[in-house]
Amino acid sequence: MNKLVIVGGGPAGLAAAAQARRCGVEDITVIERDKCLGGILNQCVHSGFGLHMFKQELTGPEYAARLEKEAEGIKCLTSTTVLSVKPDKSVECVSEKGLFTLRADAVILACGCRERPRGAIGIPGARCAGVYTAGTAQKLININGVMPGKKFFILGSGDIGLIMARRAILQGGEVCAVAELMPFSSGLKRNIAQCLDDFGIPLLLSHTVTDIKESGGRLSGVTVSRVDEKLRPVPGSERFYECDTLLLSVGLIPETELLRGAGAQLDPVTQGARVDERMMTSVDGLFCVGNMLHVHDLADNACKEAEECARFAAEYLAGESAGGELAAVECTGGVRYAVPQFLRRGARGALSLKLRVASEVKNVYISAQADGEEVYSLFRRVAAPGEMEYLTLPEEKAARLRAARKIVITLRAKQ
Ligand SMILES: Cc1cc2nc3c(=O)[nH]c(=O)nc-3n(C[C@H](O)[C@H](O)[C@H](O)COP(=O)(O)OP(=O)(O)OC[C@H]3O[C@@H](n4cnc5c(N)ncnc54)[C@H](O)[C@@H]3O)c2cc1C
Repeated sequence: MNKLVIVGGGPAGLAAAAQARRCGVEDITVIERDKCLGGILNQCVHSGFGLHMFKQELTGPEYAARLEKEAEGIKCLTSTTVLSVKPDKSVECVSEKGLFTLRADAVILACGCRERPRGAIGIPGARCAGVYTAGTAQKLININGVMPGKKFFILGSGDIGLIMARRAILQGGEVCAVAELMPFSSGLKRNIAQCLDDFGIPLLLSHTVTDIKESGGRLSGVTVSRVDEKLRPVPGSERFYECDTLLLSVGLIPETELLRGAGAQLDPVTQGARVDERMMTSVDGLFCVGNMLHVHDLADNACKEAEECARFAAEYLAGESAGGELAAVECTGGVRYAVPQFLRRGARGALSLKLRVASEVKNVYISAQADGEEVYSLFRRVAAPGEMEYLTLPEEKAARLRAARKIVITLRAKQ
C-alpha cells in the first residue's frame, strides 16, 4: 500500500509532505483541522521567516504560501480533525462529512504546540476579562482584526510575547513592560533587539506578576515583584502598573493527545515524543516532527527536521532496516535536552542532535562523549536556552557515539 498520512498542515507537515514525494512516496495525505494550510504561520504577519530555507526574509503567510506551492498536488484534507491514531496506523478523522478512518503504513505527526495558559502558572488576583495568551492576542489582531486592549503588560519573554509587544505598539497600543521570571530571556536575541529595544520597551528580568486588579470586570492593573534566586517574590519590591490587558507568553507545550492515544512514550523534559534517529516514536511506523516533537525557535528548523523525518519515513515504507537496537542519549552538566533521545546502534551516516542548554552560559564546549571520552565538541561564546543548538557529527564520529555503552551530551568550560 505504501501510504503515508501526515497529521498537521503547518510548516512541518507541508515540508514533510513535499520531501516524502521527492523521496518517491506516492500515496501521501495531509490532514489539517483548520480550513487552510500553513499552521501558526498564518497569524505571524511579521517578517523574519525563511532566511535559511528560501534565503529570503518572508512574512509568515508568504512562507506558508511557498511551502504550499512545494506541496502542490499532494492530497490535503482541510477542515478535518484527527481524533486518534492507533498503533496499527489507522487514523480516525472527523470532518463535516462525518467520521471516517484512513489506513496508513506510516504516519507523521506534525500537530504543533499550544500555549501555557494562566491556570498553569497560578497568578493570584482577580479572575477578570483582559488576560490573554500572546498567541490568542496575535490571532485576534492579525486574523480577526480586533484589538484586545489599549495598554498592555506582558508576562514572559518568549518570542511570541516579544513579537506581540511590538505588534501592540504598531497597532496603536501602549506597552508598560515585559516581565521575565528568569534572570535571562527565553526569546531569540534578535527579537529582544527588534521588538523591545527598538521601541524602548523595558525588559524586567527576575520579575513576575504577583497580583491582578480589576474594575468593573476588566483588568485595571498588575502588581509586579522582583524574585530572588529561588524565584520567590521579594517583599517590598512590588510595583503597580496601570493597564487594561495582560498578555502571557510563559511557555509552549507540544500537543500530545494523539501521541498518548497511540501509546507513544513521552519525554518529561521536552513534553513531546521520545524518538530515535529517524524521529520514529516508540510506536513502529509512527513519526513525530516540528513543534509537536520539541518547541523550535525557527520555522526553518522545524521544516528542516520535517524533511529529514520524511526521508526516514520513505526508507521505512521501502522496508529498510531501522538500524539495530536503541541506545539512550543522556544529557547532563547544563544541557537541558537533546533530540533524538535514542540512537540506533547500527545506523549509518552523519548524526544531527538538536539541543537546548538549561541557562545562559559563556565560553563553553557542547561535548558529545562516548564512554567518558569526548568524540565531538562545538564551541559557543554564549549559549542561551532561547536558541536551539545543533551538534552535527560526521559519520565516523557518529559511529563512535552509536557504538558506546554510555552516550552523554554535556557542557565543558573552556580552559
Ligand atoms: C507567535 C509566533 C511567532 C513566531 N515567529 C517566528 C519567526 O519570526 N520566524 C520563525 O522562523 N519562526 C517563528 N515562529 C515559530 C514557527 O511559527 C514554528 O516553529 C512553526 O510554525 C512550527 O511548525 P509546526 O508545523 O510544527 O506547527 P504549527 O505551525 O503549529 O502547525 C501545526 C498544524 O497542525 C494542525 N493540527 C493540530 N492538531 C491537529 C489534529 N488533531 N488534526 C488535524 N490537524 C491538526 C494545526 O491546526 C496546525 O495547522 C513563531 C511562532 C509563533 C507562535
